[in-house]
Amino acid sequence: MNTSPTNPGSACDIIDIDADAEINGEKPEITIETPRPSKKVLPCGGFVFPFSGPGKTASSDYPYALHDTLQLPWTHSSSADGTLTLRSIACRKICAKGRSNCSACADLSKDSILEGILDRAKHGVHEKANYAYQSFSGLIELLRRKNKHIEEMKMRGFNAARRIARQARSLTDHKCFVRAIQKAGSTGIK
Ligand SMILES: [Zn+2]
Repeated sequence: MNTSPTNPGSACDIIDIDADAEINGEKPEITIETPRPSKKVLPCGGFVFPFSGPGKTASSDYPYALHDTLQLPWTHSSSADGTLTLRSIACRKICAKGRSNCSACADLSKDSILEGILDRAKHGVHEKANYAYQSFSGLIELLRRKNKHIEEMKMRGFNAARRIARQARSLTDHKCFVRAIQKAGSTGIK
């Protein structure tokens, strides 16, 4: 095997990577497979949103509309099994071995807005709070209550109208009775 220098650029060149040789004034691009360091990195799994209890889901616990109202420092995604994952906008994409997320995503648990969301998911959202703080289930419950309230108001209005109509009829009858008495008095009927 010929190990002597050959014409630069030839397909038969043998590159001595230790020599740091230059060919035509340019350093050859060399890809060297190096063993992975022992400190492995893994893809960041984001912050898995903890639901407030059994049977609870993203629809019942997470206020999606809040993203349209506030500039939240995370994005959200759901998987087919129902897991809701939040990812910091500063996510580093990778995390160290033994961890499930990067420090930016892990720190989301200390975010005051997210703490508020988790607290409301557990204890409920005040009825007069901005609708953006409600989850889908919370909004459906609010609509149900409002519809019930509207139906009750309609029924009260209907009953009040019937009562007024009945009283008006009684008043008319009373007026007719009074006029009849007056008429009888003026004609001398006894
Ligand atoms: Zn991350």
